[in-house]
Amino acid sequence: MTGPTPIHEPTIAENGVLRPTHLEVDLERIAANYRAIQTHVGTVPVMPVVKANAYGHGLVPVGRLFADLGVPYIGLAYLEEGMRLREEGITTPILVLGGILGRQIPLFLEHDLALTASSVDKLEAIDACAAEMGRTAKVHLKIDTGMERLGVHWYSAEALLEASLRCRHLEVEGIFSHFANADAEDLAHARLQLERFAEVLRFYEDRSLPLPLRHMANSGAVAQLPESWLDLVRPGILLYGVYPSDECRRTVPVLPAMNWKSKVVYFKVVKPGHPVSYGSTWQSDHQVRMVTVPVGYGDGYPRRMSGRAEVLLRGRRYPVVGRICMDQVMVNIEWDSAYNDDEVILLGNGDDEIITVEELARWAGTIPYEILTGINTRVPRVYRNERSSQP
Ligand SMILES: *Cc1c(COP(=O)(O)O)cnc(C)c1O
Repeated sequence: MTGPTPIHEPTIAENGVLRPTHLEVDLERIAANYRAIQTHVGTVPVMPVVKANAYGHGLVPVGRLFADLGVPYIGLAYLEEGMRLREEGITTPILVLGGILGRQIPLFLEHDLALTASSVDKLEAIDACAAEMGRTAKVHLKIDTGMERLGVHWYSAEALLEASLRCRHLEVEGIFSHFANADAEDLAHARLQLERFAEVLRFYEDRSLPLPLRHMANSGAVAQLPESWLDLVRPGILLYGVYPSDECRRTVPVLPAMNWKSKVVYFKVVKPGHPVSYGSTWQSDHQVRMVTVPVGYGDGYPRRMSGRAEVLLRGRRYPVVGRICMDQVMVNIEWDSAYNDDEVILLGNGDDEIITVEELARWAGTIPYEILTGINTRVPRVYRNERSSQP
């Protein structure tokens, strides 16, 4: 056995040789959130969802964390994400939740990734491919109960379930559906979806067949719809300490695991009436001090936050003024002091102040999911409380 594989190059981000802008990800926080969710759902197994670069926190380090924690299953959106975890030597069962194309099927089987079968055609293509390769495919049947995204509709699901009984080269390990409104205040639609799913599952009971693993609960449903937990829950955003919506009831004690930081790289005094940044949309009527910070929409700091965003500097909040550029922003510190190399917090905890992902989402007119997953790979991730991959 080889030792733990380094998952980042600490010298780059940690000693600040390259970009001062980086993300600090606290893996112990993510582990604690996982444990809080597990406690909340009792004996129901938890499948952490680590798609979209683990909601921006880093696919491989977070995937390895969950593998080390011994989770029963990992959930992902795309084939490539699953292949990446397999290349890293992660052997935990993985379910790819997204849609598949016929030509991708051999790669699923080669990498031992469970597939989502969302139609009879796809199921038969999986069975045929598995037969040809001399393997048994692991499949989860996808039922659409009201999201209108992937899966056979609940009212015509029987053909898929029947077809699955005829397939000889696959194992139907699970059957699942997905909520459209489980994070809402009003859970009527979520309950309706759950009823429709239960109707489909009667197929097994009527024939006295063993039920595959039934799963439906995303973060919203984990938080506020216990009757939907069934045999497995699939939380994503809640693992990262963020609730799926403002309305969703706060029932699980989780904490955010990410700080996005940068540093002052320039200080100047700006005269009244001298406009700042592209389009000259902002100017002061009095002389101000201003700093420039090397982060921009090219990193996933949304340009739509121009005129609204704030940052923390020396423990205080200051506004980002003028348009957010691709690689830089300007911050008005009025007549306070700041120096080159001072830390600037874009998201997360300062000493007493905090900037939440909900605030960034509000400034950008979007949801926390889009902010987290939008912080792109140009921003180096630095991992705190990294666990050894050795048992
Ligand atoms: C993304 C996703 C999840 C997790 O959703 P959260 O709202 O982040 O908890 C669960 N199931 C499926 C099918 C998904 O696509």
